[in-house]
Amino acid sequence: MNYRGRFAPSPTGLLHFGSLVAAVGSWLCARHAGGQWLLRVDDIDPPREAAGSAQAILAALPAFGLAADAPPLFQSQRRAAYDEAFERLRAADLVFPCWCSRTQLAEAGGIHRDGHCIARPQPARPPAWRLRVPDVTIAFDDALQGRQRQNLRDEAGDFVIRRVEGFYAYHLACVVDDAFQGVTEVVRGNDLLDSTPRQIWLQRCLSLPTPGYRHLPLALDAGGRKLSKSEQAHPLNPADPMPALRRALAFLDVQTSATSSTPQALLAAALDGFEPACLPHAATRPA
Ligand code: GLU
Repeated sequence: MNYRGRFAPSPTGLLHFGSLVAAVGSWLCARHAGGQWLLRVDDIDPPREAAGSAQAILAALPAFGLAADAPPLFQSQRRAAYDEAFERLRAADLVFPCWCSRTQLAEAGGIHRDGHCIARPQPARPPAWRLRVPDVTIAFDDALQGRQRQNLRDEAGDFVIRRVEGFYAYHLACVVDDAFQGVTEVVRGNDLLDSTPRQIWLQRCLSLPTPGYRHLPLALDAGGRKLSKSEQAHPLNPADPMPALRRALAFLDVQTSATSSTPQALLAAALDGFEPACLPHAATRPA
């Protein structure tokens, strides 16, 4: 099997340390396996997008020595594929329209269950569409975080796959595109560990293959909070890539050379002797 990995940033801000860690971690695993490293731009949420950030992220990656093996896939161009997946789910009666507001759901415990809406149908208003989630427990082995189990009905509930505004939700777009790009292993931040059972369930509903998963420790700031692009934590400076690249490799416990003077040389030295199994198994780490 030919290994294919990917890095899938959301263009909600400039490249920051947490996303560099995901990019470097996924790149190292792909290169170690002699496979391909692909890019996907998760631009399916226009209201959350920061203008110009997709191009800025794509331009920054080569400055950090990270060159992809194919042109990036833009989710904004993939509407037809998501429509097709959605129609398949609808034909199988696996989705239903929902008019529940966030507030109503929060008052009812925050989880939508058994296809049961709290709000009445309002045919004049567009609904969100949710996937019907049965009482099923999804188990999988994460290559770093170990055995995971989640009862979907209790812990996730019927989840939105198409939003009121008509945009497809991340889970649907992600599984359709991971399959389209032929991704064999997803290497990403641990903040998405608990999304994975929903994605595996969607893959089963759509008869798509399930890749391997390797969730990297989540980088926390000094206050113990997730470093988030939307908080504009600290955008990295692509004109001075070496310090951040060294920090990202150190964060991932990857040995490298003190003398490398370019990002490419530093990454080549990091790859020498790199073993994916030696990546840290922790759920979080200080950045
Ligand atoms: N676009 C997501 C993010 O930037 C990552 C999606 C994924 O790796 O599945 O958080």
